[in-house]
Amino acid sequence: MSARVLDGQALAGRMQQEITPQVAAFAARRGRPPGLAIVLVGQHPASEVYVRNKLKAGRDVGFRADLERLPDTASLGDLLALVERLNESDVHDGILVQAPLPKAFGPDAAARVFDVIAPDKDVDGFTAVNVGRMVQGRPALVACTPSGIIELLVREGIPLEGRRACVVGRSDIVGKPMALLLLQRHATVTICHSKTADLPAVCREADILVAAIGRAGLVTKAFVKPGAAVIDVGMNQVTDAGLAAQLFPEGHPRLAKFRERGSVLVGDVHPEVAEVAGALTPVPGGVGPLTVTMLMMNTLRAARARMDGTR
Ligand code: NDP
Repeated sequence: MSARVLDGQALAGRMQQEITPQVAAFAARRGRPPGLAIVLVGQHPASEVYVRNKLKAGRDVGFRADLERLPDTASLGDLLALVERLNESDVHDGILVQAPLPKAFGPDAAARVFDVIAPDKDVDGFTAVNVGRMVQGRPALVACTPSGIIELLVREGIPLEGRRACVVGRSDIVGKPMALLLLQRHATVTICHSKTADLPAVCREADILVAAIGRAGLVTKAFVKPGAAVIDVGMNQVTDAGLAAQLFPEGHPRLAKFRERGSVLVGDVHPEVAEVAGALTPVPGGVGPLTVTMLMMNTLRAARARMDGTR
């Protein structure tokens, strides 16, 4: 058996086509497009790529999408002042501060930023107000990666109600909100983490298994109930030849790519899982594109809520 591929890239394309006319309608009614401001502090090669993709996706659907850069020498105070200025901006409906922040800002820097972002512009869904509203099942701007995964599961017709779901990872940005959204869809949810005893056995109970760990290929066939839907959130740049050879058999095109480039992007799910899973998201081309699309959805929602009081 080979798992059905859950093509996040294709769904993201369809959703962008759905969003574009809604953005045009908003702009026609309001005299301006929805506006997204992305804040980038310092130099970080991976962040540069993520930010470029988000700005392009925003402009492609018709947003005003602005990059607000701060230099390496900026302080946390400079960042908070910039966020406060964007909170007051009439033309920006969404504010995203790209992670990671410089280490010099200290361990609680992200929390301090989320305490300052206006909840009605919090298109990442990370502020305490939006997290609290989500927990209570009230309308909220919800974290993009987990809400994109729910969109994918629903549109692919994967039943959630009454099913067992297992989320591996308990971060504030993926694992915890993912578990809550599955719970809201009436799945019976287990959350696992690095201290979970007998992780493969717990995961094997799941009809829907979400891996949000950050460990290349950790989820092997032994973790997967035959026929389960497996969602691979992990994005790991593998540079170790031994690990690459464990993940891909000799002759596999991804192994050839690794040998050519010296690195390959892989998820948390081992490719062998395709032999037992019923459905599986690829990496790349699964969850990642949907995260960007949900950022567009959230920005449009934020713009509507600010202007019309509707989401
Ligand atoms: P974090 O590092 O914040 O959290 C990782 C979680 O995995 C923690 O809860 C940790 O447990 C758990 N974990 C680590 N090792 C193990 C293990 N051996 N067994 C079981 N659980 C383990 O990561 P994020 O949630 O931010 O991201 C997870 C992955 O998803 C990363 O690869 C990241 O790059 C990717 N990502 C992808 C996105 C996309 O758009 N595709 C968006 C966001 C993230 P504990 O709490 O006990 O430490």
